This record gives sequence, structure tokens and C-alpha cells, in this order.
Amino acid sequence: MRDHTLEHRFVRNVPRELEPGVLYISMEYATAVHSCCCGCGERVVTPFTPTDWRITFDGESVTLNPSVGNWNQACRSHYVIERNRVIECGQWSDVRVEAERLRDKRAKAAYYGHATASAQLDAPSTALTVDPEKASGLWSRFLAWFSK
Ligand SMILES: [Zn+2]
Repeated sequence: MRDHTLEHRFVRNVPRELEPGVLYISMEYATAVHSCCCGCGERVVTPFTPTDWRITFDGESVTLNPSVGNWNQACRSHYVIERNRVIECGQWSDVRVEAERLRDKRAKAAYYGHATASAQLDAPSTALTVDPEKASGLWSRFLAWFSK
């Protein structure tokens, strides 16, 4: 692990060339980007979403949750950024990496699946596409109920 601390920098746009040891945070794009702390120079992008990362800024330092696991990079480094400190975590086995990919997929499916379902509930036009001729009984009952 090359970097043991990171300096946070709030930016609008993340520069093309990343300075090592800097955690670039863009609220505009709801994402943080840094050069891998192991020193390999890979660009590590951690988007803020309900199923990805959360950033906490206490006025002096930032904490990124959950840990950063660079499974897609050659180094496979794994660390936590807590109050600007980089805390190395153990490397994960292939089995655990696979389990994490699956968990991430499920979390996203559950979250976005739910979000889609509630969005449909908010659209009464789709719920009321009942042919009033065919469902006149139902329709009049609905209207009767509605005018109560
Ligand atoms: Zn690395």
C-alpha cells in the first residue's frame, strides 16, 4: 500500500490526470475518483448511489463506505477510506469476489426493481385502462364507491 492517507478535494469535474493520494469528490456527478492507493495508478471510480458507495464528510475529513475492492484491477487491492486514512483490508478469494458481485447484482435488482414498481403505482393511467363497456359492472361499482 503506497498511500496511507488521502487528501480530499471537492471538485466539479474530475481531472483526466489524477494526482496520487487525492480523493476527488464531485457532488455534481455524485461520484468520487482516486488513483488506486496501492500505487498501481489505476483509476478507481466509486459512484454514490443507494446500492454503491456513501460518502461522509465531517467538516475535516471524509469516510467512504463500504470498502473499496479493486477486483477488476490487476492489483486486487482492498481497503477502507476512513477519515482520510487508508486502511488495508485482506485480499478476497475468488469465491468471495464472486459472492460480492452477486450481492451487488441482487441489491441493485431489489432496489431498482422496487423503484420501478412504485413508479408504476404512481401512474393511475395504466391502472385504469379497463374497457368501461366490458367492465361496466366493475366500473359503476368503482364510480359508486368513488362518489361516496
Ligand atoms: Zn492498485
